[in-house]
Amino acid sequence: MANKDYYATLGVNKSATDDEIKSAYRQLAKKYHPDLNKTPEAAEKFKEINEAYSVLSDKQKRANYDQFGSADGPQGFGGGQGFSGFESSGGFGGFEDIFNIFSNFGGRGQSAQVREEGEDININLVISFMEAAFGCEKEITVTRRERCSQCDGTGAKSNSDYVTCSECGGSGRVTYTQQTIFGMTRTTGICRNCGGKGKVVKEKCPNCRGTGLKTVTAKIKVKIMAGIDNEQVIRLDGEGHQTASKNGIPGDLRIAITVQPHSLFVRKGFDLYVDAYAPITTLLLGGKVKIPTLKGTQTIDVAPLTQSNTKYTLKGKGIKYLRRLGYGDLIVTLKGEMPKELDKNSTKIIKELQSAIGEKQYPKTKNYIQKLDN
Ligand SMILES: [Zn+2]
Ligand SMILES: [Zn+2]
Repeated sequence: MANKDYYATLGVNKSATDDEIKSAYRQLAKKYHPDLNKTPEAAEKFKEINEAYSVLSDKQKRANYDQFGSADGPQGFGGGQGFSGFESSGGFGGFEDIFNIFSNFGGRGQSAQVREEGEDININLVISFMEAAFGCEKEITVTRRERCSQCDGTGAKSNSDYVTCSECGGSGRVTYTQQTIFGMTRTTGICRNCGGKGKVVKEKCPNCRGTGLKTVTAKIKVKIMAGIDNEQVIRLDGEGHQTASKNGIPGDLRIAITVQPHSLFVRKGFDLYVDAYAPITTLLLGGKVKIPTLKGTQTIDVAPLTQSNTKYTLKGKGIKYLRRLGYGDLIVTLKGEMPKELDKNSTKIIKELQSAIGEKQYPKTKNYIQKLDN
């Protein structure tokens, strides 16, 4: 029998990925599904598409086909019964059914069940500003489903209560031969008796009531890296809900971080902003001002006649970078602070100061105010 070009049938390249093959198949299957397409060629075309897909969607069959031009290896197709049909009871099942059935092809011989996936768990964690800046370790409490330790996830009371399914002989799949509009077809599907597991439970495990899972409270240590910021999420792979099946993939634990604000420091990216205060006399005459930083204080020199709100950048005194070496900067806004009270003597001195420097105090707005007043 002449070799068929399955790639051409599905309209894909020889290098097509599994997803591309699946997508091409679905589009064509919709187009030629005999329930939807009543033309005489549709049924034959549909059969070809399914045959091509049953080979190209199976790793081993596809490899054989690529190498030998046949899904069965070097000996060829034999009678040409490569196509293993689809489930049908009184014609085709619903439109959705056909895709569900075909997605179960592949993985011959093993359990027909799709690999189970545990659900993710999302939690919120509030940490202090300093914990975010310096990093910390937190113990968090998570309520999650874990594999039952008594039955190891089988759901059976004892090993002798976990027996091979008599319907499918442990394969998890059953094959029927049926007369359909295409002639005799073989139908392969998930065994309904065992749900594809290949095993059935005779007596249920009392600890998990046969589910194979227990809800437990787990304590998990989380290392929080220095530099983490508000609204960032830490993902711990595999720390979410487990699956009853040992072959399953546990879900992830996703921890959304909320960083409490600090009374002094404001963070933007990895830079920190802080307001520092000095007496107005220091701003007038110059001097030294102590600045609060994340690690203790640092003294800066202030020049005479420094304006209020002058900014100083302290390099490398900000937040530690998360993914590289080094630190952001600390940006200081220096503000002049008024005395809380003035005694008679101080008032007298300041009045003298006022008459001495007078209007020179307002150079920036002087011209503008004169314009408005005129
Ligand atoms: Zn159990
Ligand atoms: Zn079974």
